Amino acid sequence: MNKSYPRTAARWLSDSQVMFSWQNFAMTRPIFTEEHEMFREAYRSFLERSLVPRREEWDAAGIVSRDVWEEAGAAGFLTFDTPEEYGGPGVEDFRYNLVVVEELARAGVSTHGAGFTLHNDVCLPYILKAGSEEQKQRWLPGMATGELITAIAMTEPGTGSDLAGMTTTAIKDGDVYILNGSKTFITNGINSDIIIVAAKTDPTQKHAGMSLLVVERGMEGFERGRNLDKIGMHAQDTAELFFNDVRVPASNLLGAEGTGFLQLVGNLPQERLGIACAAIAAAKATFDLTLEYTKERTAFGKPIGSFQNSRFKLAEMATEIEIGQTFIDRCVLESNAGTLTAETASMAKWWCTELQKRVVDACLQLHGGYGYMLEYPVAHAYLDSRITTIFGGTTEIMKEVIGRSLGV
Ligand SMILES: Cc1cc2nc3c(=O)[nH]c(=O)nc-3n(C[C@H](O)[C@H](O)[C@H](O)COP(=O)(O)OP(=O)(O)OC[C@H]3O[C@@H](n4cnc5c(N)ncnc54)[C@H](O)[C@@H]3O)c2cc1C
Repeated sequence: MNKSYPRTAARWLSDSQVMFSWQNFAMTRPIFTEEHEMFREAYRSFLERSLVPRREEWDAAGIVSRDVWEEAGAAGFLTFDTPEEYGGPGVEDFRYNLVVVEELARAGVSTHGAGFTLHNDVCLPYILKAGSEEQKQRWLPGMATGELITAIAMTEPGTGSDLAGMTTTAIKDGDVYILNGSKTFITNGINSDIIIVAAKTDPTQKHAGMSLLVVERGMEGFERGRNLDKIGMHAQDTAELFFNDVRVPASNLLGAEGTGFLQLVGNLPQERLGIACAAIAAAKATFDLTLEYTKERTAFGKPIGSFQNSRFKLAEMATEIEIGQTFIDRCVLESNAGTLTAETASMAKWWCTELQKRVVDACLQLHGGYGYMLEYPVAHAYLDSRITTIFGGTTEIMKEVIGRSLGV
């Protein structure tokens, strides 16, 4: 890096800098207890120790190495909700999931930890809620230690938003299902050991014909395609999966046959809330480093942050992030109470991810030409943010969910 330019621009901020800038105006957040703050400290140390030093290595490799999963598991940072009897921490409280995404964003490793959040926030609930006793005993302990990495495969090359239009089939034949089809854009697609696959067990039906089957690493006829080349989120393995006459034991069916769509509908609000939590955290982290940059970088003899346009932009972002954070904190409490509706989760998802995109774009603009350089964190934040209004349900689909509930 050219040393004549602001030092904060080319790296994520230290704790003291973040505290200084954000505390100037941030409201208190009464949702956290001392336990959450202790957890936050421990998680922060884990990230500094085990993820931050390997950021560039994993960006270049397009994947994080499996050993960090086992480190996370050994420290109790995987599958919070899993009861102790299955080897998990046994803590049902989404505030811990919120702390995780906040700390990932602040350390600049959201992409590198995205696999963890998919595993914890998205995949785990399917096993916990629909898994049989035998399935829980088979999979939950390995998921807690990080030896079993999970993925969920809904999207197909021909359909994403319209899930009922999927063409992957799983036809019962005695005590197995014969699985055929392909999936794409699957997070943890390369690293995963067990994959929850949505397929039609009755192709004559739309929603009612869908079931969830767990495909395991090494099953004959199951192949992974390439690790897809994305514009951002470089360290996150995202892959195509192919199923060619895979004989999946009927004992790997999750829940009853035909309940796949209902299970998805039941679990998607938590997935969407998790993405919204991460979006606000990313907006905040990018805002923080940009605020510091605008204090250090000068033009026309004064800090660029002191121009009225910069001040107004920063003021607008600070306001919207605060509003978003307040809503997110409330949604997390609703989720804990079991009262978060699909519509409210959709509101959080579309509004917070669209906000993230606006904030990150404005932050890049405030960095000038340096914002366009990949050695600057704001450039990564920009590239990584572009997907958040698409995955987990697009902004348009979120508005459809909300709009339908309004009776229009
Ligand atoms: C990095 C990454 C990770 C992902 N991880 C996973 C994963 O782990 N598992 C998984 O199953 N999937 C995953 N996905 C897939 C993702 O969820 C889908 O891309 C997304 O749901 C959109 O589906 P699609 O790409 O087929 O777009 P389409 O459904 O083809 O949509 C294209 C456009 O049409 C719009 N549109 C579609 N229907 C409507 C409508 N009714 N009204 C208005 N507009 C509409 C959409 O909003 C969008 O703008 C991932 C994708 C990416 C890029």
